[in-house]
Amino acid sequence: MVGLQAPPAAASPTEAAERVGPRDWRRLAAALSSRSTLYRPRDSNYPPLALPFNHRYAGIHPAGIVACATTRDVCAAVRWARAVGLPAVPRSGLGHNYAGYSSTTGLLLNMARMKSIAVTPLPGARSRTRTYGPIKVTHDAGTVTVGAGVTNGDLHPLLENQGMFVPTGRCPTVGVAGLVLGGGIGFSDKMFGLTCDRLVSTTVVLADGRVVEASQDSHADLFWACRGGAGNNFGVNTSFTFQYEQFQGNVGFYQLRWSLDSVVPVMAAAQRIAVNTLDDKRFHLRVGIGTHGLARDQIRANANVNAIGQFYGSLGELHAILAPLLAIGTAEERARNNESVREVTPGQASVLLSATTPVDQFAAKSAVLTSRTLLTDKQIGAAAEKLLEWPGSGNEDGAGFAMFALGGEINQAPPDATAFVHRNAVFIFAAETSWADYDPPHVETANLRWHREFYYDIFGNTPPEQSYQNFPDPTLKDWRRAYYGANYDRLVRVKRKYDPTDFFSYPQGIGT
Ligand SMILES: Cc1cc2nc3c(=O)[nH]c(=O)nc-3n(C[C@H](O)[C@H](O)[C@H](O)COP(=O)(O)OP(=O)(O)OC[C@H]3O[C@@H](n4cnc5c(N)ncnc54)[C@H](O)[C@@H]3O)c2cc1C
Repeated sequence: MVGLQAPPAAASPTEAAERVGPRDWRRLAAALSSRSTLYRPRDSNYPPLALPFNHRYAGIHPAGIVACATTRDVCAAVRWARAVGLPAVPRSGLGHNYAGYSSTTGLLLNMARMKSIAVTPLPGARSRTRTYGPIKVTHDAGTVTVGAGVTNGDLHPLLENQGMFVPTGRCPTVGVAGLVLGGGIGFSDKMFGLTCDRLVSTTVVLADGRVVEASQDSHADLFWACRGGAGNNFGVNTSFTFQYEQFQGNVGFYQLRWSLDSVVPVMAAAQRIAVNTLDDKRFHLRVGIGTHGLARDQIRANANVNAIGQFYGSLGELHAILAPLLAIGTAEERARNNESVREVTPGQASVLLSATTPVDQFAAKSAVLTSRTLLTDKQIGAAAEKLLEWPGSGNEDGAGFAMFALGGEINQAPPDATAFVHRNAVFIFAAETSWADYDPPHVETANLRWHREFYYDIFGNTPPEQSYQNFPDPTLKDWRRAYYGANYDRLVRVKRKYDPTDFFSYPQGIGT
């Protein structure tokens, strides 16, 4: 067991913050190197750093923020926070956590300055080159080590400019840290594994301020937990080393859209395709329904079904896979959808597959769908009907659901190989709603009510057991089983070993 002193007597973070005096804050500032900075609420740089990406949690104000530039400074900040009895909560990216778990009234550790990216090619025996239609992939071409502040968007230029690829998610501003710690799904994961499956090692600052390197050969239990056990449970990860692939050539890309009239045949065909291609690592799909707008007629007019993805293979094969979808819809929709199927460079695909979400307010509820829990026509009909009852909001992102097809490499790993347990899924489903900062309070209330009803209209009173830990839902009761299944007990054992006093803690954190 890692030796730790007992933390100061428990107090709420707000009470604890009130007990921290100016001398304590000066001590923290003095302990930091010149590259890191402490911000207090009166500093002009404090407000933008305090604000999370999801403004739903904008009212949670940190007592102080350390903009961390080095691992040593993270150690100093963690040691200081323990000593004064404040929680220390890391935030990478812009703070995308759906449940506000990267917000705190204690000490916020903003990792955005840790932006280093170091590439180590590994030519020779360990890499292997294979051709998939118009693309040549050198698997495991080398490693790339990134600082905790690196975002998906920071990695994309590696692909666009040098053909180097690490699987990431859709949103450029999501932090690689939170993404990999909770799993990481995207448009290449069937081929190359989840983001966490590409992790080789990670540097972790523990609750006692010690720094450990976790990998298969060192602190293997912590390394296991850092691949799906979710952020802020075991320590502050300050860097991550991933295996990368080297690309040469093109990929197949498609982007399809129909009016909501086609929802039942499209969703049925898309689910059949996902099942038929479950073991085909090359085919990637995200399918969903959505709408946006304020007035009822806008919401109806904007309601649509959509599918997007990429394929590591020939255009002919991609057309054959998509044929049932390409045959659906009006003549105009069919023509537009057929035209969207084309060959592009992996860099162009990465841009086309990226989506930025307006920085406003949103909520999500997810479900892991297996071949036994795919959506029936009745469930799809219920979802479409409820979508048209969406109360509306000023957020362009609107509302709906998205389903990310899994399988391939992801499902090759046993559920206990890493902490990411969902290894027999066909889809990860996410129901979302959003509203704008300027919407009046009743819009938020109506959206949250609608969101709950939307989910339960689809799944009834017995929704699928598992949910995705990177789409945390603060209202989920049995979250231990939903996020971690049979891996939860092992996560608790890792937690007891590396953070026995539960210093890193939040409402759905791994317990001791
Ligand atoms: C618009 C949007 C799009 C998304 N798209 C995808 C997608 O395509 N694929 C996918 O898999 N997920 C996606 N997600 C979910 C995303 O993976 C999670 O929200 C993820 O946790 C975000 O990581 P972050 O570092 O940006 O967020 P944060 O809010 O900073 O962190 C998330 C959690 O990890 C902790 N944490 C952050 N940094 C560290 C660190 N360095 N060490 C230890 N703990 C840390 C935080 O305290 C918090 O508990 C999306 C989310 C949003 C809002």
